[in-house]
Amino acid sequence: MLACYHERSLSCHVEIMSIEKFSLEKVLSVHRWTNTLFSFTMTRPAHFKFTAGQFARIGLKVGEDLVVRAYSIVSSPFDETLEFFSIVVPDGAFTSNLQHLEVTDELYLEKVPYGFLTLARYQLPLPQDLWLLGTGTGLAPFLSMLQDFETWQKYQKINLVYSVRTEAELAYADRITEIVEMFGEGHTGFQFIPIITRDPHAQLHERLPVLIANGDLEKVAGFTLNPETSHVMLCGNPQMVDDTKDALKARGLTMNRRGEGNIAVENYC
Ligand code: FAD
Repeated sequence: MLACYHERSLSCHVEIMSIEKFSLEKVLSVHRWTNTLFSFTMTRPAHFKFTAGQFARIGLKVGEDLVVRAYSIVSSPFDETLEFFSIVVPDGAFTSNLQHLEVTDELYLEKVPYGFLTLARYQLPLPQDLWLLGTGTGLAPFLSMLQDFETWQKYQKINLVYSVRTEAELAYADRITEIVEMFGEGHTGFQFIPIITRDPHAQLHERLPVLIANGDLEKVAGFTLNPETSHVMLCGNPQMVDDTKDALKARGLTMNRRGEGNIAVENYC
């Protein structure tokens, strides 16, 4: 019997949840990228439908308790399994346990997905150029979007901007090439733009807000952020999201509200 379930809601407050909200799923694979980054896949129950960009709530039994955390879904909405990309936070209640995950272990999955970081939220401006800006594991929801044919049909230009500290943390670089070949076949407007903040020799190595303010990101992309045409999505740690939001607003872009505006965000609080 589990004694209690601690979960942080969307606003990251602790709440108590009922176990009936979860299904028990089996871990199918674990891939360790670095000491602090790993990915895993698990079984996907037939009832679990989601839109690319949404997140799941995953539960892990720690002693008698169930600790639950939000995780963006990496997989395509059409995949038979679910994939996630995780950081290891030293002493983190969830990840200090999750990091020892092994194939055939079981995890709890809340039965419904959450979140509004989806392309469907945009009405105006009409889809034209899409900027996906992720730091670290904030790449996850964008991998799901790129594994949805609709994304490629909607946008003429797609920039995937992925900021990490070191080259070793550039997880999924090869998978991105495979995804583009499979889902973006014939599309000529895709660019993958890595930023490696601790490598002074990398083409881009400053923080995202700086690269937006000084114009270097657009120089590498070959076109400008434009309030009339750009949809810009940000995902990752709250500080990066806030600072990048400010840099974009300073360029005349607006938050997307009730369908209108350029910027949509997900904070990994
Ligand atoms: P916590 O006590 O939860 O975290 C401690 C601190 O570490 C946080 O306050 C934060 O400052 C920092 N932190 C936590 N997670 C991250 C992160 N991923 N990147 C940078 N800093 C972080 N985490 C993932 O690894 N992958 C995901 O796909 C993911 N998706 C999320 C989606 C949403 C909507 C939200 C709100 C969070 C998401 N997170 C994701 C964060 C995740 O829910 C947990 O915070 C993370 O698993 C660490 O849990 P913890 O208990 O070990 O440490």
